[in-house]
Amino acid sequence: LVEARGIQKSFGQTPALRGASLTVPQGEIVAIMGPSGSGKSTLLHCLAGIYTPDQGEALFDGRPLNAMSEAERTRLRRTAFGFVFQFGQLVPELTAADNVALPLLLNRTKRKVAYKTADTWLDKLGIGDKGGRRTGELSGGEAQRVAVARALALAPNVIFADEPTGSLDSLTGEKVMDLLTGLAREQGTTVIVVTHDARVAAYADRVALVRDGIVSSIDLSVPDASAAAAAKGAV
Ligand code: ATP
Ligand code: MG
Repeated sequence: LVEARGIQKSFGQTPALRGASLTVPQGEIVAIMGPSGSGKSTLLHCLAGIYTPDQGEALFDGRPLNAMSEAERTRLRRTAFGFVFQFGQLVPELTAADNVALPLLLNRTKRKVAYKTADTWLDKLGIGDKGGRRTGELSGGEAQRVAVARALALAPNVIFADEPTGSLDSLTGEKVMDLLTGLAREQGTTVIVVTHDARVAAYADRVALVRDGIVSSIDLSVPDASAAAAAKGAV
């Protein structure tokens, strides 16, 4: 269970979130949509414990992240959460395989196992042949898939993905969404995905619409074209 309760977060004078609340049960796929600058990425970072809210709180399984020790929060982020950043955040000097294996190595996975897992996920994402390439030399879409592989390789309880298909053609984007949602269906992984793409939102159980720093509406029905179009219309 992932939860935001009345989260407020400002950057200097800029309020990014103004009381955002959201509850995502285990195993659910939620799409977060809304205009550029509405606070979607900030909400995702708060939910994952990367940002600390100014007011309100983020909870995981009913436990406020703020109340945890720094060590506990770090452990949670490393073991239970997989985060796909909007702007990749790969280590450009390292190879694709290194980037995917790195979090596993930090979790004390044996080197051989970590690299085998990395290869498996790069393969599933259709970039098995890019394992030895430095990520700084990959195309935008290739790097984006390395970032997805890195999050999935950890077998997290929750995947936070910030526009994971933004640099991908629609077919590759579908492949990525098939992988993400397959995990939710088969392993009960919770998937929270920020997207501008109605086709990505169509994979979700619900769509949460963010406007001006609050979750302005949640579509409880399986999103159809009209819900996605309404969300898009807000952009
Ligand atoms: P987009 O769809 O363009 O990615 P978003 O909905 O993800 O937008 P956020 O990145 O959450 O929007 O930003 C919300 C507001 O907070 C914006 O006004 C943005 O300029 C501001 N903001 C976000 N991150 C920072 C930061 N690190 N420093 C300063 N301002 C920030
Ligand atoms: Mg964003």
